[in-house]
Amino acid sequence: PLPLIGKLMSPAHDTSSVGTRYNLNTPALVLDLDVFERNVATMAEIIKAHGKGLRPHAKSHKCPTIAQAQRDAGAIGLCCATLDEAQIMAANGLSGILITSPVTTGYKIGRVVALAEQTPDTMIVVDNPDNARNLAAAAEQKSLQINVLIDVELGFGRTGVTSPEAAVQLGNTIRNLPSLVYCGIQAYGGHLQHTVDPIERLDLCRQAHRRIEGIMDALASIEMSPPIVTGGGTGSHLIDAQEGPFTEIQAGSYIFMDAEYQTVIYAEGEKWPFDNALFVQTSVTSTNVPGFVTTDAGTKAFALNGPEPRVITSGLEVTTYEYAGDEHGRLHLNGANVRPSIGDIIECVVPHCDPTVALYGRYHCVRGDKLVDVWEISARR
Ligand code: PLP
Ligand code: MN
Repeated sequence: PLPLIGKLMSPAHDTSSVGTRYNLNTPALVLDLDVFERNVATMAEIIKAHGKGLRPHAKSHKCPTIAQAQRDAGAIGLCCATLDEAQIMAANGLSGILITSPVTTGYKIGRVVALAEQTPDTMIVVDNPDNARNLAAAAEQKSLQINVLIDVELGFGRTGVTSPEAAVQLGNTIRNLPSLVYCGIQAYGGHLQHTVDPIERLDLCRQAHRRIEGIMDALASIEMSPPIVTGGGTGSHLIDAQEGPFTEIQAGSYIFMDAEYQTVIYAEGEKWPFDNALFVQTSVTSTNVPGFVTTDAGTKAFALNGPEPRVITSGLEVTTYEYAGDEHGRLHLNGANVRPSIGDIIECVVPHCDPTVALYGRYHCVRGDKLVDVWEISARR
C-alpha cells in the first residue's frame, strides 16, 4: 500500500472526546452536521432529478469521511485536485477518482501510475500531447493502462485545449497510445461559478455549453464522441444540470456554503438551497480598547481570498471582522448591544471554504451545542 502522505502529525487536541461545542482549541473549524447532511442530500437530489451523475470535488473538504458520505448519498465517484487528495482517498477505500488538473512532472507521473495500479478506475485529465505521451510511457513500463479525459478550456485561461482542432489533435494522440484509455472530456469554468448576477451567469454558462458542444462535435467527427462530459461547480450546477451537455457535475463547495458563495445570487428571487455548515470558532483575548474586541483568529485562521468572516454569534451579527495580525482578529462592535468579555466564544461563517479547510487539521462536528465527532482533514495538501 502507498504511504499516507498527508498523515497528521499535529499535537494532541482537546478533541479526542466528544462534549460541548464550546470547549475547543480555538481557532477551530466547526462543521454543523445537520446542515451538512441536508446540503449533501439536496445536491444529490437536484442532480439526480436531471438525470446526471454527481462526482463532487474533494478539494473543498479534503476528508475521506466526507467523500464517503457523498458516495453514500449516491455520488458516482469524486474529483481530486491534487495527488495527495487522490492518494489518501484511495487509501481510504474510495473509488471513482478523477484528478482534475494535469500532472506533468516525472515524479508526479510516477505517483499517478502507482495510483492507477492501486485503484484502476482512476481517471486523469490531459491537455497536451507531450503530457499524454509521458503518461503513456510511464504506464507502459508497468504494463498498465491509465484512463484519461481531454481537459477543455472554457475562457478562464487556466488549463485545457483551447480549440476543436487542438482537441482532435490530442484525441488522435491518445487513440494511438495503447496504454491510455480515452474516457471523455472535462470542461470546468472557474470564472462562471461566482458570477453574482444570475442572468449574466446563465448567459456565460450557455456560451460555455456552446463551446463544449463545438469540441464534442469535432471529437465525434473522428469517432471519439466523449462518453463522459464532466464539469460544473456549485455556482453553475443548476444551469449545467438543466441544459448543459454534461453527463456529470463536479460541484464541491455546496456542502459548506461559504460567505463568498452567499454573495452570489442563486436565481432571480430564489434562495440558495444550501445553508452555511462550516464555521471558524474563535475566542476573545482582549477587551481593553473601546469600540472593538480582539480575538485569537487572524490571517492564519482564514483564507484571505474571500469576503471578511461573517459573525453569526447571537447579538453580534452586526459586527464586522477585521484581520489584526497573524493570530489576532478585530471585531468592530458597530453598535452591537452586547460587548463580549474575555474568553467568550465567537463563530464566523468561513469566507472561502476550500483554502480555509486546508489550514486546519480536523472538523469538529456538532449537532446544536454538542460536539459529536471529530473528522480528520487528512488530505491537506
Ligand atoms: N471542478 C474543478 C476542476 C474545480 O477547480 C472546482 C473548484 O475550484 C470545482 C469543480 C468545484 O467548484 P465549487 O467549489 O465552486 O463547487
Ligand atoms: Mn473555491
